[in-house]
Amino acid sequence: MLFSSCDWLPQAPLEILQLDWLSRSGIEVAILRLDQIDPLISGNKWFKLIEHLKAAELAGAKGIISLGGAHSNHLHALAAAGKRFGFSTVGLLRGHPQDTPTVQDLQAYGMQLHWLGYGGYRARHAAGFWEPWQALYPDLLGVPEGGGGLLGAQGCMQLKSMVAGQLNQLGWSDYDGWWLACGTGTTLAGLVLAEAGAHPVYGALAVPGDHGVAQQVESILQQAGAPDTGYELLDASLGGFAKVDPQLLAFIEQTEQASSVALEPLYTGKALLALKQQIEAGKFQPGSRLIFIHTGGLQGRRGFSLTRA
Ligand SMILES: *Cc1c(COP(=O)(O)O)cnc(C)c1O
Repeated sequence: MLFSSCDWLPQAPLEILQLDWLSRSGIEVAILRLDQIDPLISGNKWFKLIEHLKAAELAGAKGIISLGGAHSNHLHALAAAGKRFGFSTVGLLRGHPQDTPTVQDLQAYGMQLHWLGYGGYRARHAAGFWEPWQALYPDLLGVPEGGGGLLGAQGCMQLKSMVAGQLNQLGWSDYDGWWLACGTGTTLAGLVLAEAGAHPVYGALAVPGDHGVAQQVESILQQAGAPDTGYELLDASLGGFAKVDPQLLAFIEQTEQASSVALEPLYTGKALLALKQQIEAGKFQPGSRLIFIHTGGLQGRRGFSLTRA
């Protein structure tokens, strides 16, 4: 079957995070290692793709066409899945041709690339944007940037059962909430749908407040017929997407040394730093138990110099 990938159900390990600032606060955090579901197909982007792949299969498509930047975790996961499971992939890239480690992988995985420039990429939400691409690739299904929308969120709902099935191993009977990085808020929306109010979901925004994350989450919940409740968004962007500062880089390095969990500076590093700051500000009671999602993204880190060496 062309989309045999739809049956692939990877499991992410759930591990107690051992860090001194957590023990000091009396708060326990278990980290869901989506960075470890597979050597090539990493992170939340796989889960965001699942329902899009099923839709493609239903539509009789032979593959997927989607968009992203030159470090895109989404295009990377899509290209790797296409190679693994044997379906065609086309990537529409932001900007002008660049030779990043991500782009080299996309090419090695057989993804057909088109560079749209910056203006061309900005037009991606315009009516009629997809028409010429659908004419050029009539057999492929278009998937929005990052694998977003209701389908993307629905694929992330299974993260709740993945965690529920592993609580016993940690000696936990329950947890008090989720903490994760948000770019579009799609993954968060999936968790909010799965929880249906049972546990709160805290989203650490990797983008500034004016990027419309709240509206996107609200729109997904509305399309699903779910109430717009059960979550909270907090700014973790440090003033801009991809903005980093020495404190963040030092924190990532310390975390990696203390716990051997690798983080990248755009999403997971910012999300964990924001959690530390919120815990230190007294947001959670001692004895609280939280699930932190490692959303992956380590492949994109190759484009950055973490050590400033
Ligand atoms: C894309 C991405 C996110 C954001 O996911 P959304 O569903 O867009 O909120 C978080 N972390 C990493 C590593 C990502 O690649």
